[in-house]
Amino acid sequence: ATPTAVMVATGIGATHGVLIKGGDALERAQKIQCVVFDKTGTLTKGKPSVTSAKVLSDMQRGEFLRIVASAEASSEHPLARAVVDYAYHFHFFGEPPKDMDMQGLRTKNTAWLLTASKFEALPGKGVRCSIEGTEILVGNRKLMSEDGVFIPSVAEEYLKDMEQHARTGILVAFDKELVGMLAISDPLKREAAVVIEGLKKMGILPIMVTGDNWTTARAVAQELGIEDVKAEVIPAGKAEVIRSLQKDGTMVAMVGDGINDSPALAAADVGMAIGAGTDIAIEAADYVLMRNNLEDVITAIDLSKKTFARIR
Ligand code: ADP
Ligand code: MG
Repeated sequence: ATPTAVMVATGIGATHGVLIKGGDALERAQKIQCVVFDKTGTLTKGKPSVTSAKVLSDMQRGEFLRIVASAEASSEHPLARAVVDYAYHFHFFGEPPKDMDMQGLRTKNTAWLLTASKFEALPGKGVRCSIEGTEILVGNRKLMSEDGVFIPSVAEEYLKDMEQHARTGILVAFDKELVGMLAISDPLKREAAVVIEGLKKMGILPIMVTGDNWTTARAVAQELGIEDVKAEVIPAGKAEVIRSLQKDGTMVAMVGDGINDSPALAAADVGMAIGAGTDIAIEAADYVLMRNNLEDVITAIDLSKKTFARIR
């Protein structure tokens, strides 16, 4: 296309909140054969909330939640924030009503939390810290199995049940003993299913990639009509997924929002970052979707096709 055509297309993109970093990216977008979506914060709203908590020991529920929140308070992970919000509500107002939106409920008041020391964020797994001399682990099965924590069948049944309902199950251990679980739900973006259907109609293959577990991932993918899923992908593994898809010459786009997604956004032929995502993801991407609406993935591809069709 002429520089003018590229400029015009860039301008049209901008009016839709689709920011395009250069003519090369614009040109590649028309050839996309498959779009890899991150799950959390990309296909889902990225506003997770705790939907249930189960304590296995005779510990008080409030005490359990307070300890878990104290462990998660230093984590930046969206799941950690959901846990703290829920525990905050429980601590000050009691059990939150079902389906209550607890986003942003938590204040800067952290006086109710216990002091955690030796805090460690374990990417793709959870967190570890020490509270009043007890080692606290909060995270997924992988974290527990690596630390030699036995998962009793009652816990496994709870997890499976939650995961089949598209929720993410979180396990909690005190001094290597499993003491409870939480389930977290992150609703799908309203337009997600329509966009997946639209891509398929264009002959483009949608794929979902996530660090979350297989059962939850499959449940989410099924709701969206996505048949290709890669789950339990370690943070560094998303770029690897992209590269393996590219091996046979397939033109791959990646849509993501998180720090974890930035290597994959950079590796993809076209990287598209959600505007509400982290700065690192936005930097690594060729496109930024400012409206945080997945329909703009299709807008971006259409724009590229129209721009380059004209001059043929
Ligand atoms: P995603 O690709 O969905 O953004 P991540 O790689 O960030 O996922 O995390 C993968 C999994 O690791 C989560 O689904 C969760 O089970 C676990 N995890 C990561 N961080 C935390 C945390 N702070 N608290 C509890 N679980 C966590
Ligand atoms: Mg994400």
